[in-house]
Amino acid sequence: MAWRAAQSLVRLREQINQIAPRRSIASDGTIGDENHRSRNSDHNPWVRDGAIGIVTAIDITHDPDGGCNAEQIVQTLVDSRDPRIKYLIWNRRIISSQVRPWVWRDYTGQNPHTKHFHLSVKPEKASYDSTTPWQVRAIPR
Ligand SMILES: [Zn+2]
Repeated sequence: MAWRAAQSLVRLREQINQIAPRRSIASDGTIGDENHRSRNSDHNPWVRDGAIGIVTAIDITHDPDGGCNAEQIVQTLVDSRDPRIKYLIWNRRIISSQVRPWVWRDYTGQNPHTKHFHLSVKPEKASYDSTTPWQVRAIPR
């Protein structure tokens, strides 16, 4: 099936690349690999926009030396309460806009998410394809 990444996530990645143009992308990703596909993951293009499958999750590599500190970026996203956010996973914790909204909880999945953070956006087109700038900013090291 044809698939694409949600436009909101492409926008976020562009903004982070502007902040940290030389960052590592070693753990970046949108569509699920075979390992992801076997699971209940937003990296699967299961949201449909006509005949196209939409991937509504992105992984961004934690690279503090390269200017992309996941701890800080995740915190600015949480602070923004951006209405597109479904949930974020970072460093063994998860925070959702829907399940116990905006309260950090332990994340005990197989991948501890210490090398990248994960963002899922909501499955409605008005959310996932919104290209409104995200409130991410460079924080001095
Ligand atoms: Zn992910």
